[in-house]
Amino acid sequence: MDYELFKTTIQNAKKILIISHVNPDGDTLGSMSALYGIILNNFGFSQDDVDMVYNGIIPEIYKFIPFIERAKKSAEVSTIQYDLAISVDIAAKDRMGDSLPLFEKTNIRMNIDHHKTNTNFGTINFVRGDACSCGEVLFDIFKALALKTDKNTAWALFAAILTDTGGFRYENTTAQTLQKAAELIQLGAEPATISRYCYESKPRNMVLLHANCMINAEFSDNNKIAGICITNKDMEKFHATNDYTEGLVEELRRINTTEVSYVIKEVDENTSKVSLRSKTADVSVVAQVFGGGGHTFAAGCTIRKPLNIAKNKLVEEIRKVLG
Ligand code: 5GP
Ligand code: MN
Repeated sequence: MDYELFKTTIQNAKKILIISHVNPDGDTLGSMSALYGIILNNFGFSQDDVDMVYNGIIPEIYKFIPFIERAKKSAEVSTIQYDLAISVDIAAKDRMGDSLPLFEKTNIRMNIDHHKTNTNFGTINFVRGDACSCGEVLFDIFKALALKTDKNTAWALFAAILTDTGGFRYENTTAQTLQKAAELIQLGAEPATISRYCYESKPRNMVLLHANCMINAEFSDNNKIAGICITNKDMEKFHATNDYTEGLVEELRRINTTEVSYVIKEVDENTSKVSLRSKTADVSVVAQVFGGGGHTFAAGCTIRKPLNIAKNKLVEEIRKVLG
């Protein structure tokens, strides 16, 4: 990693845009916030010259992340010309949603990520498939450059690492991950408080939607495949916003017989959005069949078919990786 290039690129920029991915999660929001704080604190930028953008809605549980209330919708900044755009936790360009045109029209495009399927779409790429989270990639950059990491940055990076390791439980949790988390605690991150925000602050209707989905879950192949189909009608019934389905696919994987779990959601009558999780099989392969991507045990894609047809095609592909 050419860390000096990170430094000189920021130093040479005048107006910077940081971009998070659609359906924002703790890693993309924590990374965006941490990078924003670092740029303001270390490079002499004013708030007016650094913007953050998001797509869709910021889940309630992540509103505690420092500065996140300053993040804007792409439409609010669409007339501004930036000279540096930085994407965080974004595996493929289409994951930028409405922010993609902003990225494309910027001269210098930096891609900071940790997905092994990342296509190095930036003019500058900091992509590390070995890192547990984009937050960890940033931690290493900040540390290598001895940048001043204050309490806000520590909170944001801790949230990113915590959520992408599933609370330090997934395979991507290494000794280095925990050492870095420990350093962030020394810098002021509060693990119990951050965990409470991330894991114990769900809206009631979200839990009720999950209960409804679990009751209607479908199991096949000796219960090795467990899945949930969610229609827009289901979402309306629970006044659910898009983020309410977060966590469902992990709940299904938690069942002892499950090898691969999926959640497939109706976007419109011809489009379905898929989340995949696995215990052993590589589900990034399944996602890539449909033009998506992700990690070995957590991946996703969009299938341009109605819900039921998409589900059948998806289950067919899952069977192939289960062998
Ligand atoms: P989630 O199921 O939480 O939305 O996503 C799981 C993982 O798959 C994340 O790492 C995410 O970046 C990746 N992913 C989800 N949807 C897509 C997609 O449509 N395209 C690509 N390339 N990756 C995706
Ligand atoms: Mn991530």
